[in-house]
Amino acid sequence: MNLRERTLMLIRKYSIMPKREMGQSFLVNERIAKRIVELSEADGLVVLEIGAGLGALTEILASKARLVYAIEVDPLLVKVLREEILRDYDNVVLIEADFLEMTPPPVDVVVSNVPYSIATPLLFKLARECSFAKAILTLQKELALRITSKPGSRNYGRLTVSLDAFFSSHLLMIVRREHFYPQPEVDSAVIKLERRKPPYEVKDLNLHLEVVRSLFTQRNKVLRKALRMAIAKLLPFQINDKVCGDERLEKYMNLRVKDLSPSDFAHIANVVKEYVVG
Ligand code: SAH
Repeated sequence: MNLRERTLMLIRKYSIMPKREMGQSFLVNERIAKRIVELSEADGLVVLEIGAGLGALTEILASKARLVYAIEVDPLLVKVLREEILRDYDNVVLIEADFLEMTPPPVDVVVSNVPYSIATPLLFKLARECSFAKAILTLQKELALRITSKPGSRNYGRLTVSLDAFFSSHLLMIVRREHFYPQPEVDSAVIKLERRKPPYEVKDLNLHLEVVRSLFTQRNKVLRKALRMAIAKLLPFQINDKVCGDERLEKYMNLRVKDLSPSDFAHIANVVKEYVVG
């Protein structure tokens, strides 16, 4: 029985109704599942898998890694994993939980076919609250392009710049929609995130992320215009608007927000920090 046949059999046997809002599209191509696990280089390491589903990745991970923490929020899928897939593996800790609500264990590698509905908060949680060196994530293609794009490109934005403060990111491969069941409306892509110290100084991470968020609400404006509006909306920070006249910002003022590099954003936020009131 191949992975597609096994998935369809389990769906029938347990009367599973895949829930779109939970991103329940299961990977059904075994070759691609193996490739994703290979890319994670998890041999002998401790792995966190977010959204184990019907175990397409979990089982292969378990055969390589020292220990796998498999998180799944849907109780029915947890039951199927326990009864059908993971019985023979004593190195999998299956946890029924909402990843966004839990304290994640420290691991070496994160692997996830990320539920689309929680992709953005999941990425920020990985960045800010999880200890790991590398993540191999399968995401909607458009989102994967947004994370890995370059300044000025159509996909470049808040997510690119915010995550750059934590990770270097690489697009690894495209996975077409027909390799999932039920088939989603869009293709997916696999990316790699590697934790690193950013090649620029971030003096205040919360302020930096807020400056990035706020400036990207006006991505096509030049900084001179965007900054004035942005500093008024930097929660919970209060900024003295004299920052707009600081000469260290002059060289950026006629550039559009979408053309600023991650290190430009860091420099700007570091200057803004000096004008925080109170
Ligand atoms: N990894 C499997 C399943 C991918 S589908 C595969 O590749 O086939 C995404 C899975 O994430 C689903 O099983 C869904 O139930 C689960 N999920 C969705 N939201 C979640 C959350 N907040 N926490 C943990 N798992 C979640």
